Formats: sequence, structure tokens, C-alpha cells
Amino acid sequence: MINEQKKKYFETREKLHALNHAFVVLGWDSETEAPIASHDKRGDVIGTLSNMYNDLLFDEKYVEAVNYLHENKAQLDPLFRREIEIVKKNLDSTLKLPKELLFENSVVCAKASPAWVEAKTKNDFSIFAPYLEKIVDISRQMMKYLETDSLKGYDVLLDQYEEGMTQAKYDEFFSLLKEELVPLIRQISEKEYSHNLKFTKLNYSIDKQKKFAKYIAEVMCFDYDRGLDKESEHPFTSGNSRYDVRLTNHYYEDMFTSSIFSMIHELGHATFEQQVSPTLDGTALSGCSAMALHESQSRFYENIVGRSYEFWQTHYSKLQETFKEELANVSLDDFYHFINKAECSLIRTEADELTYPLHIMIRYDIEQKLLNKEVEVKDLPAVWNKAYKDYLGVDVPSDTLGVLQDVHWSGGSFGYFPTYALGSAYSAQFYNAMKKDFDVDGAFGEENLGKINKWLEEHVHKFGDSKRPVDILKDATGEEFNPKYYIEYLKEKYTKLYNLK
Ligand code: ZN
Repeated sequence: MINEQKKKYFETREKLHALNHAFVVLGWDSETEAPIASHDKRGDVIGTLSNMYNDLLFDEKYVEAVNYLHENKAQLDPLFRREIEIVKKNLDSTLKLPKELLFENSVVCAKASPAWVEAKTKNDFSIFAPYLEKIVDISRQMMKYLETDSLKGYDVLLDQYEEGMTQAKYDEFFSLLKEELVPLIRQISEKEYSHNLKFTKLNYSIDKQKKFAKYIAEVMCFDYDRGLDKESEHPFTSGNSRYDVRLTNHYYEDMFTSSIFSMIHELGHATFEQQVSPTLDGTALSGCSAMALHESQSRFYENIVGRSYEFWQTHYSKLQETFKEELANVSLDDFYHFINKAECSLIRTEADELTYPLHIMIRYDIEQKLLNKEVEVKDLPAVWNKAYKDYLGVDVPSDTLGVLQDVHWSGGSFGYFPTYALGSAYSAQFYNAMKKDFDVDGAFGEENLGKINKWLEEHVHKFGDSKRPVDILKDATGEEFNPKYYIEYLKEKYTKLYNLK
């Protein structure tokens, strides 16, 4: 019986993977090179493929096979047991939700997206508010349907993005951040910035930026036989397996460092995917779906490596060589201070490493109140503006630069934001553990990052989804999540940078 059920499971898995492969390639195409006129037709194709996908997923025989294997999981080898546990959990979540609610959700989100764009463009929250009200209402209903014995309320949504994370754990994390970082940021904002900034006002050729991005890919040992990079409006990484990892970048003439750090960030995600063990290929464990863990890798490369002095000590001359005139009189020290400049600002995506987690904390705080009915949609602009004043000391001049800046809520992605800050905190914990094994800062300054990649492959990347993120962290660092490493890292770095006492 068990072999029969396995056979059924494997057959369907292969078909689901094939469709997923098609979704990834179609999505990639639409974000990068597809002609505008092809969008409608592709939308229809995706709709047809989605129906095929759902037919396979909800097929009685398949559901029966998954349930049978789950009931008999003691007989499965550990790797396959983990796969069945994940598949069963995801299947249950989908089956628990009434089809009408799922349909309503996709319709509302589809309409909310252009409404959000219009509201943001016109600085008019009232255009978006009715859609957001509906989305919040649907999310509150979904939370109820998805509750389990151990997961209630907002925890249900948090767990979807990072298995094992709860409101209690995040509350503790963010209150510590608030306590430790807010005074540090205040101290820095009182300091005068004394380094050269003139070079940041110049225009930088996009062709040269692209050339430098390729250089970065080489430094990070990205394997172009198993991956590629292109351009898109917003940088992202996607892929099908370790053999097909794709990333994008965006180039601005007047912000040349933006493409450098986006490239390092996306290459961090891409390195993770390229280093997943080949033994997991073709299984449901062959990539990492934990958001914070994934983000911990991109942020490790972007911030801890990419904004370190050691890294630029080696690579700044190449950057200077690429932009001969623009950077001729800019010292390594000026460049280093610029890429680490801390400033209380309005926009999350442009925030520096130090103030960034406060932007996330504000969103997390508002989001949980919204879902727990302590705040209503109509109050959001006022609540948002007050939080920015309280924590970052800035006045929000418009909703465009305030509550309307992020796309996430228009797609119903509640519970997503906190993984960004958690990822940064994980990355500092990995950094600390890595330092016990070798001279990490020294390795940042080597010609390429092979040594760093190797450690992360061994302790994090190779596992893909075969281990829970909390276990990967614990096994790699010797302890459970501990935010103290993140706070220590930021305090040490910025105290030095800003000559604080
Ligand atoms: Zn990322």
C-alpha cells in the first residue's frame, strides 16, 4: 500500500514541478523581456496552467496519497518524511480555505494593485482604503480558518513566511531593537557628517555600472553556467533549481551604489540557491522557502560583507578604475563612510543598515494591531505618521512618502515584513559563529568570496528546505535565535564609524 501511495505522490509531484517550472519562466519573462503586447495572452496562459495545477493539487487520489504517507510517516526515511510534512502542511492550508474566499481574495488583490498605484501617485489614501479594508477583512477570516492547536491569530500568518516564528518571539526581538537602537540613532543624528559627498551628486554611466556588476558576480563566484542576470524595474531572484538561478538588477545614473548593493544582495539569494545540495534536486525540498533565512543570506553579503572596510580595501581600486574621472579624488575612506551613512529617513527601501530595522518594526507593530482589530484602515495614515515621528524623529509630509510607499499590503502579504529584520539579525548570528572557525574579516578582503561561500554552503545552503530554519540556525551557530549578536554588531560598527563614546 505504501509503495502504491508513493508512486501516486511521485507522479503528481513531477507534474506539479513541471508546471512550477513554467510559472517561473513565464514570470521571469514578463518581468524582464516580454513585449508589452504579450501580457494579456500570457495572463490567459497562466490562468489555464493554474487551473491545471489546482486540478492536480486537489485531485482526490493525490490528497489521499499525501494523507496516507503522512499518517505512516514513521516508516519513511527522514528526508522524505520532512518533505511529506511540508507538503501536507501546505495542502492543509489550501484545503482549509473556502474556494469562494480564495477567489474573492484574488479578485480583490488584482483590483487593489492598480488602486494602490493610483493612490500613491495622487497622494490620496482614500482611493486605496476601501480595497485595503476588504483585504484586511479577508486576511482576518483566513487567519481563523487556518488556526491550529498551536497557531492562533497573527501567528498563523507569521508562520507562513518563517516557520516557527510567533508574535511573542517577534515582540521580544523588536522591543530589544527599540530599546538599544533608538538611542544610538539619536546620538548619530546629532553628529556632523564630515566626509566628502560631492561624488554622490554625479551621474555614472549605466554601461560601466553593468560592467562593475559583472565584476561583483565574479568576486562572489556566481556560476553563469547555472544562472543568468538581466534588468527589471525592481531587482529580484528566482529560479527552478540549483541549475537555473536567475537574478535581476536595476541601474540608476544618479545613484551608482544602488546597483552595486542590489547586485550583491540578489547574488546572496542566488548563491544560496546554487549551493543547495544536488541530492535534493527534484524533491519538494530543493530550494529554501523560509523568507527570513533567505534574507539572512542576501543581507549577510550585502551588509556584513559588502559594506565592510576589508571588502572595499580590495575592490575599491577596481571601482575607481571603472569610474576614473568621477572617483579620481575620492578616497577609500570617503567611499566607505558614504556607503555606511546612517540617516533617519522616510523610505524603507532606501534606508541604511542601522535605521532599516526601525522601518520594519513600525510596519510590524501596525500590521499586528490591524489584524488584531486594535487599529482600523481609516486610521492608518495618522498611526503611521506618529510612529515615524516617535521612532525616527521625522515628519511624514505625504502619504505617498508614508503609508502608501510599500506594495506588500495591496497583495495581502501580512506577516512578510518582519522577516526582513529577522533576516538581518540571523545574519549577524551566522557571522559570529563563522568567526569561531576562521578569519572572516580577512576573507572579506580576499580576491573572491569562495571561503565565505564554502562555510555557508556547509552550514546553511546545502540543506534547502530539508531542515527547519530554526534548526539550521541552531546547528550552525550552537544556539537558538539570539538578537544580541545583531545589536552588538550594529553598535560596534556604528560606534566606530561615528566616533561615538
Ligand atoms: Zn532579498
